[in-house]
Amino acid sequence: MADPARRHALNAAGPWFVDARCISCDTCTDVSPEIFGRDEARKAYVRAHQPEDEALFRSALESCPVEAVGDEGDPSSLLVR
Ligand code: SF4
Repeated sequence: MADPARRHALNAAGPWFVDARCISCDTCTDVSPEIFGRDEARKAYVRAHQPEDEALFRSALESCPVEAVGDEGDPSSLLVR
């Protein structure tokens, strides 16, 4: 599960985030380039939070192969310490 303590530095402020485990597979950015951007190393980060994008965000979160996408508003998506 995604770890909010390891949020990518470019994530926009808000509950949605990508953590440092991203392996640059492009799945989330293919699901929604409006929500997810890529840095120079092609690591993903959340560029925007729009309530109308919730379904797309959920799809990306569930599709990430390394569980690097998280939602601090949904404790079930976060790392349990
Ligand atoms: S789906 Fe996961 S591993 Fe793939 S680019 Fe997005 S955050 Fe990175």
